[in-house]
Amino acid sequence: MTDTGQASRTLREVFGYDAFRGQQAEIVSHVIDGGDALVLMPTGGGKSLCYQIPALVRRGVAIVVSPLIALMADQVAALRQLGVNAAYLNSTLERDEQRDIEQALEAGTLDLVYVAPERLVQPRMMALLERARISLFAIDEAHCVSQWGHDFRPEYRELSRLAGAFPDVPRIALTATADLRTREEIIERLALEEAAHYVHSFDRPNIQYRVAERGSAKQQLIDFIEGEHDADAGIVYCLSRKKVEETAEWLSARGREALAYHAGLSPALRAHNQARFLREEGVIVVATVAFGMGIDKPDVRFVAHLDLPSSMEAYYQETGRAGRDGEPATAWMLYGLGDAVQRRRMIEQGNAPDIRKRVEHGKLDAMLGYCELATCRRVNLLEYFGETESPPCGNCDTCLNPPETYDATQYARMALSAVYRTGQRFGTAHVIDHLRGVDSDRARQLGHDRLSTAGVGADLSAKQWRSVIRQLVALGYLRVEQAYGGLQLSPDCRGLLRGEQTLELRIDRSGRRKNASRLKKDLPPIELEDEALWDALRALRTELARENDVPPYVIFHDATLRHMLANKPTDLAALDGIPGVGAKKKDAYGRAFVETIERFCS
Ligand code: ADP
Ligand code: ZN
Repeated sequence: MTDTGQASRTLREVFGYDAFRGQQAEIVSHVIDGGDALVLMPTGGGKSLCYQIPALVRRGVAIVVSPLIALMADQVAALRQLGVNAAYLNSTLERDEQRDIEQALEAGTLDLVYVAPERLVQPRMMALLERARISLFAIDEAHCVSQWGHDFRPEYRELSRLAGAFPDVPRIALTATADLRTREEIIERLALEEAAHYVHSFDRPNIQYRVAERGSAKQQLIDFIEGEHDADAGIVYCLSRKKVEETAEWLSARGREALAYHAGLSPALRAHNQARFLREEGVIVVATVAFGMGIDKPDVRFVAHLDLPSSMEAYYQETGRAGRDGEPATAWMLYGLGDAVQRRRMIEQGNAPDIRKRVEHGKLDAMLGYCELATCRRVNLLEYFGETESPPCGNCDTCLNPPETYDATQYARMALSAVYRTGQRFGTAHVIDHLRGVDSDRARQLGHDRLSTAGVGADLSAKQWRSVIRQLVALGYLRVEQAYGGLQLSPDCRGLLRGEQTLELRIDRSGRRKNASRLKKDLPPIELEDEALWDALRALRTELARENDVPPYVIFHDATLRHMLANKPTDLAALDGIPGVGAKKKDAYGRAFVETIERFCS
């Protein structure tokens, strides 16, 4: 009935969007009608609107539970920019601020209040909620209730009380973490047995996945950034603090605003660097994985990994911080034999029980297999998360630029035999020299020059042999012994050695992209003559953001500016068709943007 109409109207007038995405419309109307919902959607899928629109359509105030206290202020600021009466309650507030908000909550003058979970379940707060009129409870990051999930928070357990205390208030739980076990635990813990389930694909079609063989890493990184993201915000992940520092310095020396972020920096400096990343345009953060959790910046245009992530889960989560706004973004990773060795060693040297180590080795195998793929990366990634039957994506390096493969059976057998005959004690460099017949005192002393495998592989270069051995390790035919890096046979290699099995390997390429995909075809490239206007629009946005003390994307997203650039609205009425321009923002900023465009067009 009219509620659906009201939802669409709210979407248009408040948020400035024409249409719901994916399952949003269904979810919104189900919650408006008072139903419970469990929503699984990838990062950037548009979870917030699923509760924000019902919050505005239903009577009363919506309570949003979120563990990400650091985000609340920005989330609330963004909603206020849209004209929504939003507030938050957490430990960062002064006592009188808190009292004001509690009074407004009770008086029913707020649309939406974000609350930290530990606060929500305090008796005082529960009593206050009983007196207020609640439109819905939204439980964000709902996987925090699960002990199986990677982010368990004991205070989330208490949220099970909401069902009993407010039987008539709809509850909507949202998460970007998918696996079945976590899902079941959410349902059980939050008493969502009656809830409708909305499970979205975990595909992030706007992210282009690429993996390149590591050569000169810093140079490869700067080529990538300068070539494709010369003014964009991005995150570069490294494993060690030292590498973080060095890489940030190197990028800074090359003229980019690059800030380090790792656990060894003071909390104040970390907070400062994070704030700059959020508030300024085009900042790069070079970080250990400690960075990114709870960062909700929509316009991160690339995520670069200089070191291999520990698992596909970590890779998906870290790359997922790119392109939340749905615009094209790049997930770019360098990878080499050293990663496999280093990661194995980290697992072995850790003090997890054996059973856990086996799990971690298994996760690493999946990650290595992903790196060595000659087929669509996205298909592999989605399969890992249980989504089978997706077709090749056309937006990853192996789709855009299919790697050539060759029959490497014979070379693989040479390598395996060489490892065996030299006693499974020597590292890659020695084995390669042996295969290529490089004459040395050491080889002669060891008697390796007289073995049948000496020099059998002289027709491949050292680089080509490194590629073969790296792939044999990644595919599990060879192992790297931990203490000294010696290569050893693994049981899986028997079929190959006996000649019962053949093996295709990929030919390494430089990893340069052949053609950038234009997946979002509605956004044309910026024409040369428009570049000055583009810069002016972005400068205006930055200025308004500073005046209002919010991040630039809270004023308008990139996509909104791009549409302005394409349509060049020169009066306020013409702004109506631009996505992301709702009534309130049109009033507040419309004139400034229209005047800037006017100035450039005349
Ligand atoms: P999530 O919380 O699932 O990571 P968000 O709710 O932050 O995702 O939404 C991601 C981005 O998509 C935001 O920039 C949001 O404004 C935008 N968005 C969401 N729904 C729509 C829609 N129906 N039309 C246009 N943009 C949308
Ligand atoms: Zn693909």
